[in-house]
Amino acid sequence: MKRYCPICHDEVVDGLKGAFAPFCSERCQLVDLHGWLTEKYAMPAQEDDPEIFEE
Ligand SMILES: [Zn+2]
Repeated sequence: MKRYCPICHDEVVDGLKGAFAPFCSERCQLVDLHGWLTEKYAMPAQEDDPEIFEE
């Protein structure tokens, strides 16, 4: 069964046994982690400062 990296959509050669599963590499693992953290911090910021865009 082939698995594909959720970040770059390349085939994950090592599959579930890979050190970076379900990602194909450490790079994609970090990209996903960074994106998750960015989204986590970005969402409350938009709710806390709605007036910034008004001024
Ligand atoms: Zn990848």
